[in-house]
Amino acid sequence: MKLLLTDGAVHILRFDKGEDVLVALKEFCIGKKIGAASFQALGAAKEIVLAYYDLKKKAYIDKNLAKDVEIASLIGNIARKDSEVAIHAHGSFSDETFATYSGHVKKLIVSATCEVTLTVLHGRLERKFDNETGLNLLL
Ligand code: ZN
Repeated sequence: MKLLLTDGAVHILRFDKGEDVLVALKEFCIGKKIGAASFQALGAAKEIVLAYYDLKKKAYIDKNLAKDVEIASLIGNIARKDSEVAIHAHGSFSDETFATYSGHVKKLIVSATCEVTLTVLHGRLERKFDNETGLNLLL
């Protein structure tokens, strides 16, 4: 991951082939002591794990995809849960037939590049486990 440009609050980050975007982004946020942010990204991936949350079962249904796809859109936010950096990301990915796969993003490995615009906010967003949904919701 390389920080290409920043104006203090907005960072343009480039992730390279083989990098796990969510892991590297988390490390960047820990290093910069970021407590709240939003991000958007585009690029290309070779491996993704998407998930759909079954609200009745309170469990994620995962879908592993190991194929070259476009990162048509990746959006998310960054908060803290029990002091740990918590990244929430959703994305839409397209293949050579232009079919798309969308959902909650658990893993994203870059194939060519991933260009992230990270907007850091003042203060700190917190997540807390919610019994009703089974999710870690923003407070
Ligand atoms: Zn989600």
